Amino acid sequence: MAAGIELKNVQKSFGNTEVIKGIDLNIEPGEFVVLVGPSGCGKSTLLNLISGLETLSGGDVTIGGKVVNNTPPRDRDIAMVFQSYALYPTKTVRDNITFGMQARRVPKAEQDAAVAAFSGLLQIDHLLDRKPGQLSGGQRQRVAMGRALVRDPDVFLFDEPLSNLDAKLRIDMRTEIKKLHLRLGKTVVYVTHDQIEAMTLASRIAVMDEGRIRQYGPPEEIYENPVDLFVAGFMGSPP
Ligand code: ADP
Ligand code: MG
Repeated sequence: MAAGIELKNVQKSFGNTEVIKGIDLNIEPGEFVVLVGPSGCGKSTLLNLISGLETLSGGDVTIGGKVVNNTPPRDRDIAMVFQSYALYPTKTVRDNITFGMQARRVPKAEQDAAVAAFSGLLQIDHLLDRKPGQLSGGQRQRVAMGRALVRDPDVFLFDEPLSNLDAKLRIDMRTEIKKLHLRLGKTVVYVTHDQIEAMTLASRIAVMDEGRIRQYGPPEEIYENPVDLFVAGFMGSPP
């Protein structure tokens, strides 16, 4: 299943500083929405409000038709992948992937089946008994993705997941993420500062600036018809 996400007048302040200034955003089930915008404009904060890692200062977050304003992160059907994909250094790849399932006492056979389902797809099946220290950066990022995938959530949130990888790997992983999305059809909200990544992956792009969304639309529309100079400068085609 994929769940839609609806943000209504979402606000967040840290102390007296307003960081998210009343955002409305509608994400259809199965969409791949990419958030772009300058550093500090509130992209990570917006993801954290969707996941529940941060609490709202105002507005509503609805996931799968349910208002989740007061639902703790563990009870939201969401998996997150961050730029710094902290893996447990002393555990094997297999145990890193199934750690959450072990904690929830999911039967061993079910854990094995989940690992088998994704390790081929992520090309980590030959690495399952290694420790993270024996992996390359790209392999570690695949393990982090595996850990998110085995949870089989309705929604994936990605916060600049590829920005620590070198250019070649970034392109490979971009292609794989696209394939995974086509295959699984889950709802994805994905933050990147890489324009090409945004244009390739997104069903719709949301261009953010200073806690607001300047434009929200399909990549072609953002590129061809930017609503203002800010969007044009950030994402639009050259004049
Ligand atoms: P982005 O991900 O777009 O770079 P962030 O969402 O991380 O931006 O940050 C938006 C603004 O909120 C920044 O000015 C940042 O300093 C501030 N901010 C983020 N988290 C906190 C926090 N926990 N406490 C205080 N200020 C924060
Ligand atoms: Mg950020």
